[in-house]
Amino acid sequence: MPAIRAARLEWLGSLRFPPRSFPELTPLRRHRNAVSIKDAYSSGRFGLSFELFPPKTPESEQAMWQTVEELTAFDPAMITCTYGAGGSTRGTTLDVLKGVMARHALPVASHLTCVGSSVAELREYLREALQLGVAAIVALRGDPPKGETTFCPVDGGLRYASELVSLIKAEFPEFGIVVAGYPETHQEAVTPEADLDNLKRKCDAGGDVIVTQLFYDNADFFRFRDECAARGIRAAIVPGVMPVTNYTQIRRIASLCKARLPDSFTQSFEAAGADETAQFDAGVSFAARQVEELIEAGVPGIHFYVLNKSPATVRVLDHVGMKRSVV
Ligand code: FAD
Repeated sequence: MPAIRAARLEWLGSLRFPPRSFPELTPLRRHRNAVSIKDAYSSGRFGLSFELFPPKTPESEQAMWQTVEELTAFDPAMITCTYGAGGSTRGTTLDVLKGVMARHALPVASHLTCVGSSVAELREYLREALQLGVAAIVALRGDPPKGETTFCPVDGGLRYASELVSLIKAEFPEFGIVVAGYPETHQEAVTPEADLDNLKRKCDAGGDVIVTQLFYDNADFFRFRDECAARGIRAAIVPGVMPVTNYTQIRRIASLCKARLPDSFTQSFEAAGADETAQFDAGVSFAARQVEELIEAGVPGIHFYVLNKSPATVRVLDHVGMKRSVV
């Protein structure tokens, strides 16, 4: 075993199976703006994507660009940027994507929600995004405002993401369309079956690719993938992964996304105690195992919720042997 591999193994500690490299997973090369988002996840390719959010201060912006530098070395299929709750980051989402395109010849995707926008305002945003060269839209409904449990569209607005997908498909066919999927079922869904019916509706309306909500038990994802297949959902299903590297994030995930944390995960964090480095290593180690298993199970790509920071994601990608591009 090469020394570097052995060192990584030692660092990763209690792996369930030995790490291996995946030489067949060669990401797309640069300058592939001509490659549609749908094609980026097609057979024989592996689509990596990284999700940013609009930074709030000059310092955090600086850190975000550093992150972008480090992650683009892995030749992602796309970089995405979130759209703030209530449309609060309308301008800055596009600014981030403009900045990515100015630095790298990479497809970018803007998240867009229906919250607080009329159809006329959504059209205006889509027009601007198209002019800027945004390749795809992550078409979402968005969450109800804080303290509310039911989503209410504004006058002249849309009620469901499927309606936004239909709007984009009919009026802005140039965009690739990504939709959200929920391996643990969306919190407001009446039943898991109704949630899957909704996902099918979004795909039938034009969703090219499904990116999932973060999850920590791959069994949930595999079940979800089987159920999608049984319903005739043919879009590529890309698992969303967020390496968790400290207790604050764990608390946030438990309260916001309600993602279930398996015992093996909490046990490895408990073993790390208050040592921040040990917490980071435990989180990265868990995510590396998770990603490795997903790749072995043939996923068409991975979407990383990077939170504008790269160290954990870089360590996970290095662990699974993801190649860096030679520029
Ligand atoms: P929808 O697909 O419209 O579903 C919402 C709920 O309505 C579900 O429970 C669904 O089952 C139900 N439903 C849908 N259609 C029908 C119907 N016809 N009849 C009855 N019920 C129906 N939020 C942000 O604010 N900004 C972001 O940038 C952002 N990015 C995200 C990226 C990803 C990959 C994911 C997974 C989520 C993201 N979110 C973001 C969160 C998302 O906005 C919330 O999860 C939101 O609550 C649901 O959005 P959706 O697009 O899945 O909604």
